[in-house]
Amino acid sequence: MTTDPLHILKTVYGYDAFRGRQAEIVDHVIAGNNAFVLMPTGGGKSLCYQIPALCRPGMGLVVSPLIALMADQVAALRQAGVRAAALNSDLPPEERRDLWRAIGEGTLDLLYAAPETLLRSGIIDRLRNIPLSLIAIDEAHCLSQWGHDFRPHYRQLDALVDLFPDTPRMALTATADAPTRGEIVAHLQIGNDDSFIAGFDRPNIRYAVEEKDNPRRQLMRFLQNHENESGIVYCLSKRKTEETAAWLQDQGYNALAYHGGMDKAAREVNQTRFQREEAVVMVATIAFGMGIDKPDVRFVAHIDLPGSIEAYYQETGRAGRDGLPSEALMLYGADDIALRRRFIDESDAPDTRKRMEQQKLDALLGLTETAQCRRQVLLNYFGDACSPCGNCDTCANPPERFDGTVAAQKVLSCIYRTGERFGQAYVIAVLLGDEDERIARFGHDRISTFGIGKEHDQRTWRSILRQLIAHGFIHVDLAGHGGLSIAEAGRRFLREKPVLMLRTPPPAAKGRKGRAAR
Ligand code: ADP
Ligand code: ZN
Repeated sequence: MTTDPLHILKTVYGYDAFRGRQAEIVDHVIAGNNAFVLMPTGGGKSLCYQIPALCRPGMGLVVSPLIALMADQVAALRQAGVRAAALNSDLPPEERRDLWRAIGEGTLDLLYAAPETLLRSGIIDRLRNIPLSLIAIDEAHCLSQWGHDFRPHYRQLDALVDLFPDTPRMALTATADAPTRGEIVAHLQIGNDDSFIAGFDRPNIRYAVEEKDNPRRQLMRFLQNHENESGIVYCLSKRKTEETAAWLQDQGYNALAYHGGMDKAAREVNQTRFQREEAVVMVATIAFGMGIDKPDVRFVAHIDLPGSIEAYYQETGRAGRDGLPSEALMLYGADDIALRRRFIDESDAPDTRKRMEQQKLDALLGLTETAQCRRQVLLNYFGDACSPCGNCDTCANPPERFDGTVAAQKVLSCIYRTGERFGQAYVIAVLLGDEDERIARFGHDRISTFGIGKEHDQRTWRSILRQLIAHGFIHVDLAGHGGLSIAEAGRRFLREKPVLMLRTPPPAAKGRKGRAAR
């Protein structure tokens, strides 16, 4: 067999060219390096390990979590003439013997196995003497304790690192925020230069984020750009889903509801109507989305804060699969944020988990408040990058910004002078020079930063603080009581004093007590 990857791509797979960063990754691994590959679903990760396995001497070992998935892959590979097999526990003895013989004789190109099979006693020992071309760990996020798909067996795969230190290792996944990414590469000892993150941009989706003012009016204005088109409106609660659907029907829209509290038949009817009919507005909780395969979803609106940046990316990603211009709108309100914080606080999760959840929420707030291109912030979260896109709300209408250099210095020095242990409300009260029993008790009414922030109101300071957190200047102690301290980036800022532009907070909406913000 030839070892030219492009030739294999053409003859085995029947494709003319590599896509995205595939060629780069394939060359990197053929040269004997490790790789961490993060690409969205459908991005073409399989070729990234299959082709190097075919080009390098030895058998490629692929770890994959699902037996059904493995069976599909193996069948497709065999059809293409690749000698692939899956090792699983319910293999008849005869086949098992043949398989091991092929492995021993070196006539197998690719061996798939689930981690629990692989880690069963004896198996790794038998593989120890088999020349391996590479070890590919698919769905690598399963080894992350922060992921939603943690599988304890994945954790033990580092045994492979010890056993085959010189065999190239690949970790592949479609879902990984920064902490998950860090966990994967640390656990499998994959270096910084071995990361390949690509393909997250969905250039045909236009992103916009608005603070809730009058959400129904905001939604209506958005929908007016989408007359006779299909789309999804995501809400947080089942009740709101039904109320919003009913209200949209009153407004003349072909709106349907979808949530986990509906019985299965009713859900199916609505899902089918969404797929088949024209111009259906599906008002849904996040229960809706798995397995919908509608290429011409023209818009996705979140009328409540989504769960995380990852969830937002996935949910908005249901728009514009056909590549035509599509639109995503997110509305968020102070109530949403407070509610989400409370959910996290009051959950039974361990503290470390809560802290992680709070950080994810802060990252999401960073996206809502950014003065930067939304797409850049979104891609940056996944470790991917782009230049300012020209196709999001902040690019189209740069938000009003102000020189926040001095404000940031004031906040940071106030945090410093109060001992880096108080929360947001306290720090702001000191900046504003509030008369406050606690402040007096700690003697913070006599420090130099007391009352130096009277040029802004409390609301503005809160926004400034959030933006500084989003910038990574301030660390929030979420395990404790939310005490603020100055992070490394904040210290650097204080040393180098570069100009820092911040977004001007929108003016407080009038009469915005409770109802309007709901
Ligand atoms: P992932 O594992 O990232 O979800 P797959 O590896 O299953 O994605 O690839 C998704 C689809 O794209 C598959 O049908 C695959 O055959 C196809 N594909 C992958 N690479 C190429 C390419 N270079 N040219 C054309 N099609 C490709
Ligand atoms: Zn942009």
